[in-house]
Amino acid sequence: MSKHRNSHDHQPAGKGHKARKRFGQNFLHDHHVIDKIVRAIHPKNTDILVEIGPGMGAITEPLLEATGRLNVVELDRDLIPILRTKFFNYPDFVIHEGDALKFDFNQLVQEGNPIRIVGNLPYNISTPLIFHLLSHRHVVRDMHFMLQKEVVERLAAGPGSSDYGRLGIMAQYHCRVEPLFIVGPGSFNPPPKVDSAIVRLIPHETLPFPAKDPKTLERVVREAFSMRRKTLRNTLKNTIDAEQLGAIGIDVTLRPERITLEQYVRIADAVYDIEQQATLDGFASQDE
Ligand code: SAM
Repeated sequence: MSKHRNSHDHQPAGKGHKARKRFGQNFLHDHHVIDKIVRAIHPKNTDILVEIGPGMGAITEPLLEATGRLNVVELDRDLIPILRTKFFNYPDFVIHEGDALKFDFNQLVQEGNPIRIVGNLPYNISTPLIFHLLSHRHVVRDMHFMLQKEVVERLAAGPGSSDYGRLGIMAQYHCRVEPLFIVGPGSFNPPPKVDSAIVRLIPHETLPFPAKDPKTLERVVREAFSMRRKTLRNTLKNTIDAEQLGAIGIDVTLRPERITLEQYVRIADAVYDIEQQATLDGFASQDE
């Protein structure tokens, strides 16, 4: 086992397992909160449910009781035998040992039935994990996550808010974002330093503002917010010039946090067209 095993990041979590900071382990023990989460998920036995980071099974247990079948993805290999023992009498409980960041959720889809993803997510990787899951949007019916409250605020933020940025814009591009309720540190063992919150993400059946190329949208948004306090004229100057932005009705004197999702899509589409044209021009000049 790794040399980190005996490090100081161990906290007692009961039942023979010590919570590890590096795996973002804060185990839920508050039954009131667990019930509330399961009621929000409202699992049915026809659902294809996958839980990320089951830990010692706090949410896993009521989900299995409700549906009889469940997939889980867990990175900490020491938790696997604990989970196997606890749920040995559920033949349709499937453990995928590994990293949810690398897990291909497409493999769980059956006969076009989209999957439902849940998890009290490890906070240290929640943003990259959400981006990974957004890339699976087409096979996902909904997602219910416990996250740091601050991350839920960023997911749900609209233009004009200081929480508004790349995470919220890309989440709202793909999904409807519904913050549900706040959970205090005392509901976990060990307690985290900050408040947490539950959020529901429902992928749009039809995108409200489809971009010609979502990768270009992601790049434009990242560049725009690389300097939050500057105007768009400055933050995007290496990608699209002020005149071109003006031509599509964008006020270049605004800061990135004032621009709506619909406007970002308009900018991304213009950038895409400009770059496609530049590529074509390049081919044409090679032929001459
Ligand atoms: N669901 C449990 C609960 O509510 O008590 C545990 C939640 S704990 C916040 C996060 C869980 O995610 C831990 O079990 C941890 O080992 C697991 N985890 C951490 N990184 C992971 C990763 N990259 N892929 C899958 N699971 C991971």
